[in-house]
Amino acid sequence: MKIELPDLSLVCLVGASGSGKSTFAAKYFRSTEVLSSDAFRGWVADDEADQSATEDAFEALFHLAGVRLKRGRLTVIDATHTRREDRAKAVALARAHHAIPVAIVLAPPADVCLERHAGREDRRFSTRVVRNQHRDVLRSLKHLRREGFRHTWVLKEPETIDAATIARVP
Ligand code: ATP
Ligand code: MG
Repeated sequence: MKIELPDLSLVCLVGASGSGKSTFAAKYFRSTEVLSSDAFRGWVADDEADQSATEDAFEALFHLAGVRLKRGRLTVIDATHTRREDRAKAVALARAHHAIPVAIVLAPPADVCLERHAGREDRRFSTRVVRNQHRDVLRSLKHLRREGFRHTWVLKEPETIDAATIARVP
């Protein structure tokens, strides 16, 4: 799949834990383009897993995203974006800065996410959480355009995710 991204996009990665968002972001984008909710939890609370820091982490993340968009820099938000409210905040931010809201959805089979989850030390939550996120992602697909995402790319097979290419277009 050839993913075309307008130069001034705000890209929301959408996917359950273990779907491969951070791996995808590291492969296809500059590290400075990617704002990850985990990293911001780390910066505000010294603990990437501290869920009590989520609100403050997103406040800081959105601030930096806004600054980047104001300066015309493509920005990627690496967070699950499984909830409609979270996606809506990103769409509103993009619009406020005349950037194009884009969703790249990573939805490999739930078993793939769960298998990866099982192999990780840094994810303390239960497999039920991953299953629910996966279900929410699939349910969200048909709403993304109506929510305001101008472009939506949905990658479901692990092979499609690994073989994707990204081109920036003016
Ligand atoms: P989280 O929401 O918990 O941050 P994530 O969606 O960012 O999860 P990653 O951290 O990218 O997921 O990947 C989870 C695990 O799966 C990692 O151990 C990673 O090495 C592995 N993984 C991710 N993508 C791939 C891939 N395309 N092929 C093989 N392994 C992968
Ligand atoms: Mg991640």
